[in-house]
Amino acid sequence: MTVIEYAPAPESRALVRLEASYGLFVGGEFVAASGPSFATINPATEEVLAQVSEASAAGVDAAVKAARTAYTRVWSKLSGTDRGKYLFRIARLLQERAREFAVLETLDNGKPITQSRDVDIPLAAAHFFYHAGWADKLAYAVPPGPGGSTPAPLGVVGGIIPWNFPLLMLAWKVAPALAAGNTIVLKPAETTPLTALLFAQVCQEAELPPGVVNIVTGAGATGAALVAHPGVDKIAFTGSTAVGKQIARALAGTRTSATLELGGKGANIVFDDAPLDEAIEGIVGGIFFNQGHVCCAGSRLLVQESIADEVERRLKRRLATLRVGDPLDKNTDVGAINSRTQLDTIAGLAHVGEAEGAHRWDTGCALPEQGFWFRPTVFTGVTQTHRIAQEEIFGPVLSVLTFRTPAEAVAKANNTPYGLAAGIWTEKGSRLLWLADQLKAGVVWGNTYNQFDPTSPFGGVKESGYGREGGRHGLAAYLQGEGH
Ligand code: ADP
Repeated sequence: MTVIEYAPAPESRALVRLEASYGLFVGGEFVAASGPSFATINPATEEVLAQVSEASAAGVDAAVKAARTAYTRVWSKLSGTDRGKYLFRIARLLQERAREFAVLETLDNGKPITQSRDVDIPLAAAHFFYHAGWADKLAYAVPPGPGGSTPAPLGVVGGIIPWNFPLLMLAWKVAPALAAGNTIVLKPAETTPLTALLFAQVCQEAELPPGVVNIVTGAGATGAALVAHPGVDKIAFTGSTAVGKQIARALAGTRTSATLELGGKGANIVFDDAPLDEAIEGIVGGIFFNQGHVCCAGSRLLVQESIADEVERRLKRRLATLRVGDPLDKNTDVGAINSRTQLDTIAGLAHVGEAEGAHRWDTGCALPEQGFWFRPTVFTGVTQTHRIAQEEIFGPVLSVLTFRTPAEAVAKANNTPYGLAAGIWTEKGSRLLWLADQLKAGVVWGNTYNQFDPTSPFGGVKESGYGREGGRHGLAAYLQGEGH
């Protein structure tokens, strides 16, 4: 098959102005941290982008205190309408500066510019618009509190987020927290702090009252200090199941509530009556979008045995057309792996897949010499006991299993400790609804995959965590007596 040649179409880096080093954003100001700092790099080139402060327990404490002061003195006294005005302002500023945010996200994360431009940044703005609309309508969003009152906010929220969708995950935490009347201390992931720091500038530009949003950068120890802080009323965490368990343990017996959005091993189930062209696109998008760094990725393809060969053939043909490389190039489909550590994890598990007897195939495409890269990879002949069928790889690796009957598809799809998302491809509506009911997953997509919308609650069951983000359910988790 001929692969079409594309002329390079790089997005301009000049849209982004980086500081050499960044402090913490506390009480509306950037404060120089006295402690150590660390470098954040571009995973596509390994170039150091900036030095970022590592917040100590004292830095976290200052941020929590600033959030508490802002909550008591200002934010809890504002009307919902006024809170909504700030959120609308932030949403519009994100739109105005969307290209700058998209380039910065791509530089710091490694994801293709078309994805940060068309998915991450517009969805982040949409979350602020959506929650701005709720700020003065909380009484209609959730059941009334005692005596018919509108449920009160919780106070100070601690948000801890991962590196796969940095600004979007920030929006998932900050927008509902503020709409519900809380203030927040947010800790971005250590490999992708830059859009959160640019967001701090947006808060200043929006003249958000100081201390309503605070950003503390750092790694696991900074996150742990935020979790342990007695002044935090709720922890909203997105990340790995291992860290989610640590957080649940740390919070057991305290009065701090939590929502945990953790790992997944999503099943994308394709029946023999599925529209195959669409299904192939759904399979590719389900696992190769964002380099597979997606907690709800369709990392297990369950395909009906009668069409397995055809699906495999079509899938490989389609994957051969994916362009892997410079994330700033608008032609790129698959960007860089976010860090060397993650690349090692992916390579390690792929090696295990081979060692356990599954058949490994990759696109064989050329990879850049610098940076962290992994070819889109497919394992066939995978069985349920293989580690690549059980463990989250969080990379561009698809494990293919087969089934014969709908009941077998259900049993195999549910045979995982996780329960975040699943996809079903069939022409038959009744089968789709029956299956959706049987699947132990928080989100089930029908004849599509990886669809996100601020109005739609997202979250998992089993070891994928608890609580929902987005929609009225997500908002409720930031109000007293609701969803936590
Ligand atoms: P990932 O697999 O996405 O890297 P992690 O769970 O390791 O997921 O990281 C998600 C977020 O949790 C990051 O911001 C990270 O710094 C933070 N984190 C890591 N360890 C801890 C911990 N023990 N307590 C709180 N936060 C942590």
